[in-house]
Amino acid sequence: MSPYKNLEEYNLEITDEVRSRYSSIIDEIGEDVSREGLVKTPERAAKAMLFLTQGYKQDAVEILKGAMFKEDYDDMVIIKDIELYSLCEHHMLPFFGKAHIAYIPNGHIVGLSKIPRVVDVFARRLQVQERLTHDILECINETLQPKGVAVVIEASHMCMMMRGVQKQNSVTTTSGFRGQFEKIETRNEFLKLISSNLS
Ligand SMILES: [Zn+2]
Repeated sequence: MSPYKNLEEYNLEITDEVRSRYSSIIDEIGEDVSREGLVKTPERAAKAMLFLTQGYKQDAVEILKGAMFKEDYDDMVIIKDIELYSLCEHHMLPFFGKAHIAYIPNGHIVGLSKIPRVVDVFARRLQVQERLTHDILECINETLQPKGVAVVIEASHMCMMMRGVQKQNSVTTTSGFRGQFEKIETRNEFLKLISSNLS
């Protein structure tokens, strides 16, 4: 399913409100909204913003529940290098990077493609990296009820890179651990596995 399919589903009234506000912003910063290159920009920007915040209308619990299967496998399942794009709630500028997620099943496994979708549901909102990490962690923990779950996110923040301190190469790392990952040996095994290059 193409993610752009969602564009057709945008609430026209909301899109139009957001469009007219972008139009004012462009005018306020000293641009000419009527010049050729900018004529459709408010509408495009409105649709982009609604796309990037569509997570408010999605239910991560339902996504996981729709693909849970009974299975005896009880070793660590790791999905690493999940691409992640979000918007910082302080500046509404992007932050982006990778999520690494692991869980230890407790009678149920989940379809592997659902974990990146859960990441998207929480990332496509106004976020801080710490809460994003926590939202993903708690959602998997409460829905799948595994023996343990671990989430590590490494991200670069445009609000730091383009403005303010301009630390262009800094990466922020956040992590959360539940259940068996609270034990140092299990946590270290996970951290070793996500930092090693398997390919
Ligand atoms: Zn920011």
